[in-house]
Amino acid sequence: MEKKIDMKGKRPLIIAGPCSAETEEQTLATCAELAASGAVDVIRAGVWKPRTRPGSFEGVGERGLAWLAKAKAQTGLPFGVEVANSKHVFTALSYGADMVWIGARTTVNPFSVQEIADALKGSDVKVFIKNPMSPDVDLWGGAVERIVNAGIPRENIGLIHRGFAHVGAGNGYRNPPMWHQAIEMRRRYPDIVLICDPSHICGCRDYLAEISQKAADLFYDGLIVESHIDPDRALSDAAQQLKPADLKTMLDGIKWRQPSADSAEFKQALAECRREIDDIDAEVFSLLSRRMGVADRIGRIKKDNNVTILQGGRWNEIIEKTVTQSESLNLSPDFIRAILEAVHLESIAHQNRIMNE
Ligand code: PEP
Ligand code: MN
Repeated sequence: MEKKIDMKGKRPLIIAGPCSAETEEQTLATCAELAASGAVDVIRAGVWKPRTRPGSFEGVGERGLAWLAKAKAQTGLPFGVEVANSKHVFTALSYGADMVWIGARTTVNPFSVQEIADALKGSDVKVFIKNPMSPDVDLWGGAVERIVNAGIPRENIGLIHRGFAHVGAGNGYRNPPMWHQAIEMRRRYPDIVLICDPSHICGCRDYLAEISQKAADLFYDGLIVESHIDPDRALSDAAQQLKPADLKTMLDGIKWRQPSADSAEFKQALAECRREIDDIDAEVFSLLSRRMGVADRIGRIKKDNNVTILQGGRWNEIIEKTVTQSESLNLSPDFIRAILEAVHLESIAHQNRIMNE
């Protein structure tokens, strides 16, 4: 029997499949194993692949949709495909796609998103929107609004958090998650399904489980994970794909905890901690406000003596002194650095105002 995609009714919603449909055999064999695992609700595969450089595997095109339609007929599982323009949308719908997703490289471009939104008008297909390459919640939200404005019901729309482009090593991630971008999207669109794509965040198999568990603990609604019958021979994203059996093992290991519990003790213990946190936060901000008052005084002293705001040696000294305390404070060096940088920027802004008043 053909299954429909249940967006909110089932948590977790699990979408899985190869990065790319490569051959009919690979597509059918992967989908058959995924369906047999019983752990997957929707099949995914790309047939038009947005690649950074020309000449790498750019997808098999429309042929792949015929294979996906066949996989759907054989397994009963609905399927989804990436679309990047109106022609992709019309072609995908003509093969019975149940879901389409807008890729990260497309979400950045409002012209493309609008073209896709126009092509989707009147359709009851599910539409997932990946975060844009750049950490920009307004741009991600803008894409949601274009799809909503095209008349797609909100319950048919989903968000995919797949991490963000970065400069440098990216802490070992292919696309660092920057969780707060997704948390802010959830705050802005609380009724819209949010799932995590650990595959494109990690870029390798090593911490797929860890990222997936974190998404589950941040109350995401599900996952989209890449799975290939023979990952090492995959034509795209080989390093991050899992064999269907390994995907099943990983999914079985994830705990999908509930957002709340009914017990009175739980509620009381949580409320107490939250009151304490609110008090501490208020104290932290009042201290920061005092600190900026001192920055204003420093700004005046520097101005009177015609001295620059930034004095490299001093900034270095603050960073080094505080980072060496990271262990005794039980705070990570990255966190200490991030806080100090934010404080320093605000302090410079204060001094700048004084200098130029
Ligand atoms: C994909 O899902 O295969 C893909 C191309 O992802 P992204 O748009 O996140 O790079
Ligand atoms: Mn991929």
